[in-house]
Amino acid sequence: MKKHNFNAGPSILPREVIEQTAQAVLDFNGSGLSILEISHRAKDFQPVVDEAVALFKELLNIPEGYSVLFLGGGASMEFCMVPFNFLEKKAAYLNTGVWAKKAMKEAKGFGEVVEVASSAEATYTYIPKDYTVPADVDYFHITTNNTIYGTELKEDLDVNVPMIADMSSDIFSRPIDVSKYICIYGGAQKNLAPAGVTFVIVKNEALGKVSRYIPTMLNYQTHIDGGSMFNTPPVLPIYTALQTLRWIKAQGGVKEMERRAIEKADMLYAEIDRNKMFVGTAAKEDRSRMNICFVMAPEYKDLEADFMKFATERGMVGIKGHRSVGGFRASCYNAMPKESVQALIDCMKEFEAMH
Ligand SMILES: *Cc1c(COP(=O)(O)O)cnc(C)c1O
Repeated sequence: MKKHNFNAGPSILPREVIEQTAQAVLDFNGSGLSILEISHRAKDFQPVVDEAVALFKELLNIPEGYSVLFLGGGASMEFCMVPFNFLEKKAAYLNTGVWAKKAMKEAKGFGEVVEVASSAEATYTYIPKDYTVPADVDYFHITTNNTIYGTELKEDLDVNVPMIADMSSDIFSRPIDVSKYICIYGGAQKNLAPAGVTFVIVKNEALGKVSRYIPTMLNYQTHIDGGSMFNTPPVLPIYTALQTLRWIKAQGGVKEMERRAIEKADMLYAEIDRNKMFVGTAAKEDRSRMNICFVMAPEYKDLEADFMKFATERGMVGIKGHRSVGGFRASCYNAMPKESVQALIDCMKEFEAMH
């Protein structure tokens, strides 16, 4: 049976990207060696990093003066690297979910943290809009897509201070105005690569402004100077990231990814709104295109396990909602084909017809 992979992360990758990765594991570039058993400093591997960096810059239209890094540690490591490198006195954070809160917790160890707004009281079902960012902060930190709650900032905000964004789960799903940010980071395992590599886009001139000692490995400058090769980088996930970047480019770039994301999300939200058995959990204007969260309507609450079984039998994978939200979450990242979204919609329609 065909599987429709709605996993939230690690998550779906384009089939050809997985095949190219498998090929490189068996024989990298016809070298007779696996990519798993060569030096990251081998002359064949440097072009992989170079091209991945170049494609990052090209696809996201990154201005001059920014560096692209591939590191270990996950987005969670960035929660502390960001304040380590950028927080001198005071930073502002928008609390839109568990990841935002974790980022904020780390920052508190480095300076004053202003929570400009929070939607915690409503289980993060919306993104706060009425707030002011103090003019004297070193940066304003946002989480553009709240993977767990299915809310998303689908446009770059306008604020008078430099922004830093966790874009773990919506990078490459829309064009971004990178010039508004001094740093953009994310774990690659949602929309780019397998787990193990973390991408960081950093504005070079924003660095070097804090007075504290920064441990070598946690200092972005180390990795800029080392070209992401200060120590052994996650070689295989970087290779896969490159294949995904090439795939995005061949499909038509981030504009096309955005068009598809809108199309898929509109299809599924339309069914959630039409079908009497389901209700969306996120505020309509903040609905995420990447993670679509819904629950059973109150009068059908008892049928949640039944629908899960029904959908699983029809090939749906990974649609269980995060434990803090319950219900269902269909993650529709870039690699998710429209046909899989349609298959889920068909399940919802059939289930409704049965009741
Ligand atoms: C998954 C996720 C994280 C955590 O990423 P790790 O790489 O596991 O540390 C952080 N932020 C967001 C928005 C996420 O979706």
